Amino acid sequence: MTSLDPARDRRAADDGDAARWRELYDDAPCGYLTATDDGTLTRVNATFCTWTGHRREALLGTRLQRLLPVGDRILWTTACLPRLRTTGAVAETMVEVVSADGARRAALLSATRRPPGDGEPAELRVVVFAAHERRRHERELVDALRRAREAESQRVQAEQEMRRRALRDDLTGLPNRAALVERLEEDLTGRPREGVGVLLVDLDHFKAVNDSLGHAAGDELLVLVAERLTAAVRGSGLVARLSGDEFVVVDELADDARAAAVAERLIEVLTAPVVLQDLEIVVSASVGVARSVAGEGAERLLHRADVAVHRAKARGRNCVEVHDPDHVDPAAGRLRLLGELRQGIERGELVVHYQPRMDLRGDRLAGVEALVRWQHPERGLLPPAAFIGVAEESGLVRRLGARVLDEALAQTAAWARAGGAPVEIAVNLSARQLADADLVPLVERTLERHGVAPALLTLEVTETALMDDPDAALLTLTALKRLGVTLAVDDFGTGYASFTYLQRFPLDELKIDRSFVAGMEGSRGDAAIVATCVQLARSLGLRSVAEGVETAAQREALVSLDCDMAQGYHYARPLPADELARWAGRR
Ligand code: C2E
Ligand code: CA
Ligand code: CA
Repeated sequence: MTSLDPARDRRAADDGDAARWRELYDDAPCGYLTATDDGTLTRVNATFCTWTGHRREALLGTRLQRLLPVGDRILWTTACLPRLRTTGAVAETMVEVVSADGARRAALLSATRRPPGDGEPAELRVVVFAAHERRRHERELVDALRRAREAESQRVQAEQEMRRRALRDDLTGLPNRAALVERLEEDLTGRPREGVGVLLVDLDHFKAVNDSLGHAAGDELLVLVAERLTAAVRGSGLVARLSGDEFVVVDELADDARAAAVAERLIEVLTAPVVLQDLEIVVSASVGVARSVAGEGAERLLHRADVAVHRAKARGRNCVEVHDPDHVDPAAGRLRLLGELRQGIERGELVVHYQPRMDLRGDRLAGVEALVRWQHPERGLLPPAAFIGVAEESGLVRRLGARVLDEALAQTAAWARAGGAPVEIAVNLSARQLADADLVPLVERTLERHGVAPALLTLEVTETALMDDPDAALLTLTALKRLGVTLAVDDFGTGYASFTYLQRFPLDELKIDRSFVAGMEGSRGDAAIVATCVQLARSLGLRSVAEGVETAAQREALVSLDCDMAQGYHYARPLPADELARWAGRR
């Protein structure tokens, strides 16, 4: 279709091309935006306008961040814009875009930045994909997770109910010894300070009643005693039958005087005359009292009450003895531990053990997790549970964490020097460390000092620590991410993290809590939770790691769920560095 004027033909073709390009730009199946370095919009395509209901004229000259709700705005200005300036690109960030009618639409946003040059200022080029479907899919997963958790808690409740029934004493209907111990443990851990009182009531001469009037009368007496004790505490305390003629009353007892008063009342109600087989008899009882001190367990508390009741009987029955624990100040115990730990850290008593993390596809060693222990000069090798608590409370955990990081990275560098494939190293961060302003520079310095590539380091943060102060955590994680380290959410499933936050944190890895993995074979609820966690991880683009894998069956199940990595005693316990090297050599 050439005419006699080639110049005009070319012009027409160019015009046609420009129209085609404009059409491609405007009607593309996604939003296209360009903006200046501070986010001010310079061009928007028609799709974006139709999709959001904003007029083009209204958009041009405003800032992109004004179209985002506040959380996403923080994400965009504190994470995306700086990243665009340093690396020139951000990929697939999940945000919500506020439409003209105020509705929020889920969107997936990718951007590149053309640096300034040839007299032109820098330009941001942003592609926006509608993400309803993906968001809906994720909601479904979260719902499934919630339902699985609910099913699981119902199952646990049903199980507890069955156990409760098994925990009754047949004769009196009172809780039995097992139930008592369980309840006491709950009370004691729920409120780990003094003041839980145990009154052990032992009937005097019960054997004589049994022998002279027969077992039926003996039983009748026990039922009556149970009723009297229950009436005496009237709902404020718990009454249980320990064995034979021994009963226990648990009550809140602020001091020894109050304890003695309650004990006297119990003796009083018991000594009222009883008619058994037309015979009026008078029972008496001895009572041993013990009040809990901080950190005390149920068995020890019961034992002290038992010691007291024996003393009461020895003193001539029908009386009360209160056990004095020669009570060491529990606060002093913690202070001493803290002092020792501080010294221990300085003296290099912390040791780091390493537990293999296996790639489930191919079953090969992918990395290790660093787990701290304390080589205590008198008490031997202590697990973190024995000292992380006080360290966290006091803030000493920052120093401890810095030591562990240093040691772990030194070891990683040593392994790298020894040859072989580079080992990824995972290190745990506590909530305090996450809130520490010095964390990011500390990590950066330590990586540099040992010449370890940031990509080899994974930092594990628990779900609970993340949710302590999610906004602060977002900023810290974003800064850590910028260093190039890998970020994992630890103990996932135990902390009820808000999904909105979870997807906003720049995470790379989701560690499924070992309690769910442990229940996988027995409990259908746990299996569903693990399956959902794996899917959730995939949908968020995270790798999934199952912890606490102890059996081949669990490993098989995880492989079939397409879980990425696993860690647990099935492969190896946490080992000292040299043993780990030998373990790896044997495989
Ligand atoms: P975590 O991060 O969940 O670490 C995994 C724990 O599970 C470790 O206990 C490990 O020995 C144990 N484990 C591994 N495989 C299995 C298994 O198959 N079955 C069972 N039952 N357990 C398994 P560990 O070493 O006692 O550490 C306990 C916790 O202490 C850690 O839990 C972590 O939260 C904390 N922790 C350990 N090292 C550090 C540290 O350097 N800094 C901080 N802040 N916390 C640490
Ligand atoms: Ca961990
Ligand atoms: Ca964990």
